Amino acid sequence: MNKNTTISIIGAGPVGLTLAYLLAKQGLRVQLFEKQQSLQKDYRASTFHAGTLDLFEESGITQALLDRGIACPDFQYRGWKEGKIAQFDHALIADFTRHPFRLQCEQFKLSEFLFSKLSEMPNVDLFMNHELSGLSQNGDQVTLELRHLGSQKIHQSDWVIGTDGGRSATRKSLGLEFKGFTYDEKILVLGTPYDMRESFEDLSYINYFSDPVNYAHMLKIPDLWRMSLPLPNDLDDEMALSPDYINGRLSPLMPALDHDQIHVKGVYHVHQRVVDRYRVGRVFLAGDAAHLNNPKGGMGLNGGLHDAMSLSKIFSDHLVRGEERFDDYEKERRAEAINAIHHQTQSNYNALKESDDSAREKLFDKWRALERNEEEARAFLLNTSMINSLWRCGLLDKPHREGTQVH
Ligand SMILES: Cc1cc2nc3c(=O)[nH]c(=O)nc-3n(C[C@H](O)[C@H](O)[C@H](O)COP(=O)(O)OP(=O)(O)OC[C@H]3O[C@@H](n4cnc5c(N)ncnc54)[C@H](O)[C@@H]3O)c2cc1C
Repeated sequence: MNKNTTISIIGAGPVGLTLAYLLAKQGLRVQLFEKQQSLQKDYRASTFHAGTLDLFEESGITQALLDRGIACPDFQYRGWKEGKIAQFDHALIADFTRHPFRLQCEQFKLSEFLFSKLSEMPNVDLFMNHELSGLSQNGDQVTLELRHLGSQKIHQSDWVIGTDGGRSATRKSLGLEFKGFTYDEKILVLGTPYDMRESFEDLSYINYFSDPVNYAHMLKIPDLWRMSLPLPNDLDDEMALSPDYINGRLSPLMPALDHDQIHVKGVYHVHQRVVDRYRVGRVFLAGDAAHLNNPKGGMGLNGGLHDAMSLSKIFSDHLVRGEERFDDYEKERRAEAINAIHHQTQSNYNALKESDDSAREKLFDKWRALERNEEEARAFLLNTSMINSLWRCGLLDKPHREGTQVH
């Protein structure tokens, strides 16, 4: 591979744009194909973890996020009736990160920043309205079939990275299985300018509500307050988004908030899936195209950004260390999608929806005890902040300090 080698990225979501930016900054030739005419502006990811912020400091992406987001030092576990149960402060991990907080910023703001940077780079071509419909490869090249404004186009590339989301056409073209499951319920996501602190005492900017029926998260993002509530899978989306249904769900929880104050609403299916292989020959998968998880803990996009960093380092090292370096990608990243992201988000989900009264009491006691025990709380935060995951896969160096126990 040399600097004239072309790398095609399929999908201009936050992962594809980040990867394009990291590769282009190395001087590599990048072509980015996006099926939509413009970038998606939806309210999905908003949490960027301490580990991610450390990882992207050198690239300038962290500064862009800091300029646009809100640094939130703590998060809470709560009950609707019980109020605050426990609070965890990232100050406890300040010795391990330069960013002891979660950064809350809408994912589309990161995408807009990256897109404008990429538009100015001479070694980057951005192809909007280009939808991948199929691909084939031989030992030297990949042939892409693309739909563009009603016509079919063929494009050759040296390497391809599919960052085309959960329904990835890249993954399907490779014939790979996307093993896992879809949850029995969907989630309703609501965004409002109403200040949730008026309804709840001592509310943090990041809150997880435990409840057998209304388990939820409630977060402050720069534009709005956001919350999610579970929905039965068989409930029609249109019905779930209707003013009557939304008012019926909100009034017992927050009588002061009603549908008229909801500015953003959406319904999402939730999955826990990971692809069998992250690379087939000259084609790689990253982000949601490779793994999906439930959003409790805000890890899906963070994991995708870690994939992007891993791939960018591998493409850089490969110039010196040769082809076998490409095999490291799946080893580094697939295990983390399962061990870190799936494990953590599933355990958050199980805890939040616990329905047995005595089990809930025990869970609340466990959270309170964890809050009181500094060492355990630190170990917990190193997981939730994804720092442990980045140490494990080698993307961040684990510091060795005498007298400090890190699990
Ligand atoms: C409600 C909700 C809240 C979330 N909150 C968080 C959070 O706080 N923190 C977190 O880390 N994660 C969170 N996530 C997950 C996060 O949103 C996703 O992990 C993230 O968007 C994945 O980015 P991506 O670039 O891989 O894929 P996407 O954002 O899905 O982007 C894929 C892109 O590919 C394009 N595309 C698709 N098919 C083709 C094709 N055939 N050809 C060309 N282009 C194509 C699409 O148009 C799109 O632009 C949340 C998810 C949801 C649903």
